[in-house]
Amino acid sequence: MMLDTATLRVAFAAVALTLLVLFYLVSFRRTRSAYSAWWCAAIALFLAGSSAYLLNGTSHQVWANPLGNILAVLGAAGVWAGARSLRAAPPRIWQLAAGPAVVAAASAVDHPGSNHWAGGPFFLALMSLLIGLSAVELWRLPPAYTRLQKSLALAAGFVAVYYFGRCIIFITDGPLGHVFTAFFGSAPTTLLTMMLLVVVSFSMAALSNEQVTRELRARATQDGLTGLLNRTGFLDLAADELRRLDRTGTAGSLVLADLDHFKEVNDRHGHAAGDLALRAFAAACTATIRSTDLVGRYGGEEFILLLPGAEPDQAEALVQQISLSLAATEPLQGFRLPTASYGIAAAGPGSGDLEAVIASADAALYRAKSQGRNRAARAH
Ligand code: GH3
Ligand code: MG
Ligand code: MG
Repeated sequence: MMLDTATLRVAFAAVALTLLVLFYLVSFRRTRSAYSAWWCAAIALFLAGSSAYLLNGTSHQVWANPLGNILAVLGAAGVWAGARSLRAAPPRIWQLAAGPAVVAAASAVDHPGSNHWAGGPFFLALMSLLIGLSAVELWRLPPAYTRLQKSLALAAGFVAVYYFGRCIIFITDGPLGHVFTAFFGSAPTTLLTMMLLVVVSFSMAALSNEQVTRELRARATQDGLTGLLNRTGFLDLAADELRRLDRTGTAGSLVLADLDHFKEVNDRHGHAAGDLALRAFAAACTATIRSTDLVGRYGGEEFILLLPGAEPDQAEALVQQISLSLAATEPLQGFRLPTASYGIAAAGPGSGDLEAVIASADAALYRAKSQGRNRAARAH
């Protein structure tokens, strides 16, 4: 069966246009993310490029054919830019323009009026290169980024290899050779690109959803003012961690911290000053703890820390460090930061569930307050 290239290109245009509209509505409008904008642009460019080729064989071929090449290479550059935007490193304008410029020059000097493969080897090599670069970008994203990155990388890698094969066979076999027309010509390529456009758009839409969900989840567990975990976020993670400590027989400590006479900061210097003090305390905590420790804002001017592997002695040393770092902070907007009081409870094997550990730390905190504040007390 011989597939007719022109018919396939019309079918391709219909599929690409549908995808463009759907992807725009479902993904781009919702997320406004850079990579979905790039993917919209890439589909539009592939669509326009493929449509330009429909003028092959007419008197317009002389400009339409090179234009088709330029638009397709620009589309591939868009795919690469989209892949790079996932790790916030979009390419520079000249990097995007270099490929289309090369293919424009190569097509222009290769008799585009009569030769509808004008600039062919450059076109095929650049498509392979740009899509290959996208595959590498996707493959190198941090592992936790998404479940989809590896399959997208493989799809892009497959297309890059296919274009590389086209380029080699084009050079060795020529555009009229049997192998080229049967496996690497315009008809099979249009069909393959159509299938991949659907697969990639579908995956991209799923990726957008995944990112939105991830962002919402992060926002739901984060405290907006300090950037620490909020109460729910902390309690969820701490309950898991406490079970792990119990299972592995590892010691740990839980600390409740409360800023001293914080109400006075608000009353004397205003609520904004109070907010600054809360942020400063949060910063002192994050600067002092280890990466395996958890810290959250428990509510108001109360903070909570879980320190796996730390005996209460070590926890006491750590909170002293937090207080020292707080005291060493330059006065903010003319007021001194408040001191803090701490209640420390053991959180390890045999110390009970999270609720019980927090209650012990709270009782200790109460004692630290009644003994004069600016100190730590341990649970009995
Ligand atoms: P103590 O030493 O006994 O802990 O005294 P305190 O003044 O720190 O304690 P109190 O519980 O009386 O006051 C806590 C204050 O924290 C009251 C409340 O207005 C303030 N507060 C709670 N959340 C925020 C916040 O997000 N921003 C600001 N600026 N103030 C807050
Ligand atoms: Mg309080
Ligand atoms: Mg307080």
